[in-house]
Amino acid sequence: MPRVADHMAWKWYTSFKSKEDLNLPALTLEPDGLYRIHCNELFCRVPNCPKITPSDTLNNLRKHYAHRHPEIKLTGNSKRGGRPTLAEEHAAIDFHKALYNDHFATPGMTAAVPIKIEDSDSDLDTIKGEDIPWDS
Ligand SMILES: [Zn+2]
Repeated sequence: MPRVADHMAWKWYTSFKSKEDLNLPALTLEPDGLYRIHCNELFCRVPNCPKITPSDTLNNLRKHYAHRHPEIKLTGNSKRGGRPTLAEEHAAIDFHKALYNDHFATPGMTAAVPIKIEDSDSDLDTIKGEDIPWDS
């Protein structure tokens, strides 16, 4: 199982202290009427939300949505003891990789190490380890 928290794109994401330095996309609406939130997400993605700093954990981010944006119903944890499915982990890694690649395609955005992440999933196959809790 890939580990989102071990992926360099996610580590890069966590280096940000303000969402104003990231090009966060709007939440996507799923066919079931819920908004997709990815494992290990830390920043609120509601436009114009005054909370620009990251939450400590996904659970705290969920609490932020629940308290400040109660009209937004988020996708839940998968039903496997709170752990994300493999597909959810892949989706989360793809989300953070896309953020990373978009960041360096945007004029004016800067960061320390502009390296293009391979589109191949080969790096995922080499990331193995214990199952991790949803938001660790
Ligand atoms: Zn918010």
